[in-house]
Amino acid sequence: MAGLPGGLVREPDQGEPWPTGARVANGREQGLDGVGTRKQKEMDMPDKETHTEMDMPDEAGRAYDVVIVGGGPAGLTAALSLAHCRRSVLVVDAGEQRNLASHGVHNYLGLEGVAPHELLRRGRAEAREAGAALRDGHVAAIQRRATGFAVALEDGAPVTASRVILATGLVDVLPDVEHLPEFYGTSVFHCPFCDGATVDDRRVVVLSWGDRAEGFTRELCAWTRRLTLVTQGHPIDEGVRARLERGGVTVRTDCALRLEGRDGQVAGVALDDGETVPCDAVFFSIAHRTRAELARALGCALTAEGYVRVDPRQQTTEPGVYAAGDITPTDEAALIAAAQGLTAAVAVHESLPSPF
Ligand SMILES: Cc1cc2nc3c(=O)[nH]c(=O)nc-3n(C[C@H](O)[C@H](O)[C@H](O)COP(=O)(O)OP(=O)(O)OC[C@H]3O[C@@H](n4cnc5c(N)ncnc54)[C@H](O)[C@@H]3O)c2cc1C
Repeated sequence: MAGLPGGLVREPDQGEPWPTGARVANGREQGLDGVGTRKQKEMDMPDKETHTEMDMPDEAGRAYDVVIVGGGPAGLTAALSLAHCRRSVLVVDAGEQRNLASHGVHNYLGLEGVAPHELLRRGRAEAREAGAALRDGHVAAIQRRATGFAVALEDGAPVTASRVILATGLVDVLPDVEHLPEFYGTSVFHCPFCDGATVDDRRVVVLSWGDRAEGFTRELCAWTRRLTLVTQGHPIDEGVRARLERGGVTVRTDCALRLEGRDGQVAGVALDDGETVPCDAVFFSIAHRTRAELARALGCALTAEGYVRVDPRQQTTEPGVYAAGDITPTDEAALIAAAQGLTAAVAVHESLPSPF
């Protein structure tokens, strides 16, 4: 197994309590011992009426080879692959995929421009068809047991797993500008690589300040030169201002108060000096926080920015715990998240006991 620089990955054969592969066959748990077995006997099935299309309420209380937390591109790809490998797998998803507000997913080969909910619908159907169990809900806690993990669900009986994949993603923090959320994903964007191509030669307002402002604005020059940088009241270094203005960028140190427009199409940015800058799109440099609570509680090492550290096979620093997608330090893109989910699935499959 490859390790992170600095030897952060602990090898399972170095005295770690590496979980064994409790299996599920035909809905009955087999070979689960210790806490897992005792818990199983105590488990109640959740109320069926509270569940939606994605749910498999009968799955609660079982032992799985793998529980995947998060049903975005990373988690669903891992589920599909592990189900193909005939591993018993449960995906628990709280339904807050990061890009749900977006008009379409770009740079996803074979599905360019697909609506995010359609990508999820297909992914869920494919994972379910392959044999994965999918469940709406929120994983409240995961605890390591002698032979695996106990996974506590917010609204149901716990389940057990031999391996865990964390694919919990990020929460974006939008700038505090009135009406911005109404346009986010249709004409207000944060990712030039994802949505830059949609603003070809059109008027764009860039909301950014500090160290990132120059680089972020220059990045957008690949698609349009009709750029106005608004620094939200923050001062700008005079050298940076001069370089941007030489490149044709208008620089404003005013504060954007409000977006104007209709039906998802922004038409202008109202500034605090009373002027409205007309535009066809807005890009802002985003802040976010990782959903790393479960990883932290399991003892996984995090980066200074709060991402879960993984090795090239998506193994975290905790044996049996893998992570994939935006929760890890990576380029944040759906296809990359999916690829990481696949890598995690291969690593998990190979780490579990052979079915023979
Ligand atoms: C507006 C916007 C537009 C974008 N456009 C593009 C684009 O065009 N192309 C592109 O490649 N990328 C795009 N991205 C980035 C892309 O959406 C992400 O890289 C991708 O969704 C990451 O996938 P993921 O599976 O890691 O996380 P997510 O898709 O965010 O899924 C994580 C899931 O985990 C669930 N979860 C979290 N904690 C728990 C818990 N404790 N229990 C149960 N479930 C939990 C969440 O509810 C969520 O459903 C865009 C992002 C945004 C915000």
